[in-house]
Amino acid sequence: MALIVVKFGGTSVGDIERIKNAASKVAQEVRRGNKVAVVVSAMAGVTDQLIAYCHGVTPHPNPREHDAVVATGEQVSAGLMAMALEQRGLNARSWQGWQARLRTDNGHNHARILDIDTTKLLDRLDKGEVAVLAGFQGVSEDGSITTLGRGGSDTSAVALAAALKADRCDIYTDVDGVYTADPRIVAKASKLSKISYEEMLELASLGAKVLQTRSVEMALRYRMSIQVLSTFENAIGSDLPGTLVTDEDETMENNPVTGIAHFLGAAKITLAEVTDTPGVAASIFSPLAQAGINVGAIVQTASNDGKTTNVTFTIPRGSLGRAEEIIKSEKEKIGYRNIITDSHIAKISLVGLGMRNRPGIAALMFQTLADKGINIQLIETSEINVSVVIAEDYLELALRALHTAFDLDMA
Ligand code: ASP
Ligand code: MG
Repeated sequence: MALIVVKFGGTSVGDIERIKNAASKVAQEVRRGNKVAVVVSAMAGVTDQLIAYCHGVTPHPNPREHDAVVATGEQVSAGLMAMALEQRGLNARSWQGWQARLRTDNGHNHARILDIDTTKLLDRLDKGEVAVLAGFQGVSEDGSITTLGRGGSDTSAVALAAALKADRCDIYTDVDGVYTADPRIVAKASKLSKISYEEMLELASLGAKVLQTRSVEMALRYRMSIQVLSTFENAIGSDLPGTLVTDEDETMENNPVTGIAHFLGAAKITLAEVTDTPGVAASIFSPLAQAGINVGAIVQTASNDGKTTNVTFTIPRGSLGRAEEIIKSEKEKIGYRNIITDSHIAKISLVGLGMRNRPGIAALMFQTLADKGINIQLIETSEINVSVVIAEDYLELALRALHTAFDLDMA
């Protein structure tokens, strides 16, 4: 007998038929003799609608009340799922975050999980009851409802699996696994049967949308393997495998590149002829940090004359207006000639554990792009990724060319 956490994303519980279909999968696991805890997202589109309601009232919703509103999406799915399970002859019960004592900090809208008191949950699971946890939500020290950030029910699922010391954590979503690149753009992309936590973390934070980044961080910390599956393709009864996110093994290092991620949510700012004196970088980036703007890649060119330099960096597209305002208001203090902004950029990242200690990966990437006449605007690397920023118009061409160059094309 195994203890399994099964999570269903928004599209997997998108309407009543889908909830019934998801309930049948759960019933199947229970009939196999497993103890099952289910984590659900809000029905597809509901969270967006709830957020829109808040913004209809005020452009700056009170964060506590915002969470009180948006957490209801998961409350609805959890209740409906519990009913659908009872309909299939199972004992089931829904749990709100506060009922499961999923405690978080006070960071409304992006709260962090502190712990989950599993005593009551385990007691009921032992008696054969299915626990249906409303994902995405928890309770803070002062008893307020909190939410974990968009996509946060993945994190709820992994946290619950870790707290229950589950044997498995299955995440059902609208894709059937993790691919070598976005299959909607790269027709020859193939599904990975296995990927390491580190690579998945890198892919998720560099733009692959399959799992919330924080859920992968949590999986890595607790060494909790995640099986990513499709609710639609992995039909009831078929045990079609999705992608297993787990510890690295030797076979994973065969190919230097495991997957290619891309990201369209960034914008670029260049400050030309910045006075090259100590403290100038701080004068640019401190006010941005104070405004809570997350800065990505930064490049400062070597100055020719020892007097001025150019500084280029990326930020989230949604923060471009605000960042531009701030930099312009600090013009005197920073000292630069002009500011150039560009929001039509794409970031492409090669990710793979196999690139550690293997020279030539970046070179092959740059050559491949050069052969297609694609100009590289920025370069960023870590131990297991190489990223470039290019013009958005070349995204598809670049992805396909790199996929082929790094031997990822499906045979
Ligand atoms: N319903 C929340 C969202 O749409 C959480 C989730 O689906 O994971 O972001
Ligand atoms: Mg999701």
